[in-house]
Amino acid sequence: MATRFVIIGGGPAGNTAATHAARLGAEVTVVERDVLGGAAHLWDCIPSKAMIATGGAMSFSRRIEGMGLVEQRPVIDADLLRTRINEITARLQGQVTDLLDDQGVRVLHGSARLKGPHEVVVETADGVEELHADAVLVATGSRPRVPDFAPVDGRRVLTTRHAYPPAEMPEHLVVIGSGVTGVEFVHMFSSFGCDVTLIVSRQQVLPSKDPEVAAALEDEFLRRGVRLYKGARAIGIDPSPTGDEVQVRCDDGRAATGSHVLLAIGSIPNSDGLGLDAAGVLVDEYGYVPISHHCVTNVAHIYAAGDVSGKLPLSSVASMQGRKVAEHVMGLHTREHRHLDYDKAASAIFTEPEIADVGLAEADAFAAGRKVRTTKVPFSASAKALINNDPRGFVKLISDPATGVVLGGSIVGRHAAELISVIALAVTNRLRVNDIVESLLVHPALAEALADASE
Ligand SMILES: Cc1cc2nc3c(=O)[nH]c(=O)nc-3n(C[C@H](O)[C@H](O)[C@H](O)COP(=O)(O)OP(=O)(O)OC[C@H]3O[C@@H](n4cnc5c(N)ncnc54)[C@H](O)[C@@H]3O)c2cc1C
Repeated sequence: MATRFVIIGGGPAGNTAATHAARLGAEVTVVERDVLGGAAHLWDCIPSKAMIATGGAMSFSRRIEGMGLVEQRPVIDADLLRTRINEITARLQGQVTDLLDDQGVRVLHGSARLKGPHEVVVETADGVEELHADAVLVATGSRPRVPDFAPVDGRRVLTTRHAYPPAEMPEHLVVIGSGVTGVEFVHMFSSFGCDVTLIVSRQQVLPSKDPEVAAALEDEFLRRGVRLYKGARAIGIDPSPTGDEVQVRCDDGRAATGSHVLLAIGSIPNSDGLGLDAAGVLVDEYGYVPISHHCVTNVAHIYAAGDVSGKLPLSSVASMQGRKVAEHVMGLHTREHRHLDYDKAASAIFTEPEIADVGLAEADAFAAGRKVRTTKVPFSASAKALINNDPRGFVKLISDPATGVVLGGSIVGRHAAELISVIALAVTNRLRVNDIVESLLVHPALAEALADASE
């Protein structure tokens, strides 16, 4: 009899595990309470990047005078933008649905919880169904963290889920949180021409990133007139009596007043109400489900993947975990399985300039007392960057001075998210700088800067 594999959650982790396991011969059921594609399609990756693409088109149009064109000022139409985002997400959701359908995956629209180690109860619009599973994957994702002091109303006080675009375009947006999500929203709304204030709890935006990379973004924000409240923690949000302003109070006595406030202070896992205790699955103090390197929980046939597993909260990582889970469920790990190395995950920040990195960072190498070779090449030396009228940013490559093996890299500048793939491939496969230098790359192309940094 085929392995009965039940997956709770149809986001990147769940739907990748489903298609892969079905291809390998499992009898797969996916339970999804919202939409296939998950929060990634509905609220996170896709709508945010669609908004950023529109903002990018607007800011690019402000720079065209250097390209032999007459400047034109586009005006944003929030309804058209909303329609565009809905069309993109609907199309991607359709693709996921078709893929699952093609692989013979059963999709149940409803809310699932574990009743025991092998029993999953699903509440659908038609009633309650109980499924018996040989293996279960918990891939329920996460949701925005809302602190007690934040009176979120979806109108003036927003989470990221209210922002695509908000019912009323902010005149002045106060963003709380300067991690990846926070800075992307600062970039997005300042590109649209909104005034933006960013509350930065540390002394640097993107506190976990290379200081040189963070500085490049701060410079651009300041150039655009974004106000940075550094070293300030938000402790209160007070809507004005007239309802048209909101004030954010900070722990250092400062206050920032705007028309809207957006919270970007992280997420919490969707592990509550899932019946994990009934199945004997442990969660940590924050609600994440701890997993082994095979994504197995403390119960041998129950897996967790994606944001709920508390590893890197990235769609790309969730999908790869889902793939690894499918292989493990089907017993493939004994032969082909390569463990996921979270330290080698490439990530990008879709700001302007765009930022991407992978592997070892220069600051972490120094902190660990590790000898590395660092080379840095500015895009101002790239023919293609000049042709693009955008010579901002640089490529930084970290390699082992003894062997030449590429250990990591950061890219700041146009198409950084695409270009980092070359360094990611090198880091994952332990390629040497010479392997990049000796590749016959296209000219003129921004990727030539990667070869220059490898010299
Ligand atoms: C604003 C923002 C932008 C982002 N942009 C990027 C990006 O550009 N690139 C990137 O790699 N990552 C990005 N991320 C992170 C990315 O969205 C997540 O890492 C990814 O969605 C995690 O996938 P997942 O499968 O774990 O969960 P999700 O995508 O959250 O899917 C989980 C699914 O489970 C369902 N579910 C939950 N509980 C139940 C239940 N009891 N029964 C049935 N169904 C249930 C939910 O409805 C949901 O559809 C972004 C995050 C945010 C907040």
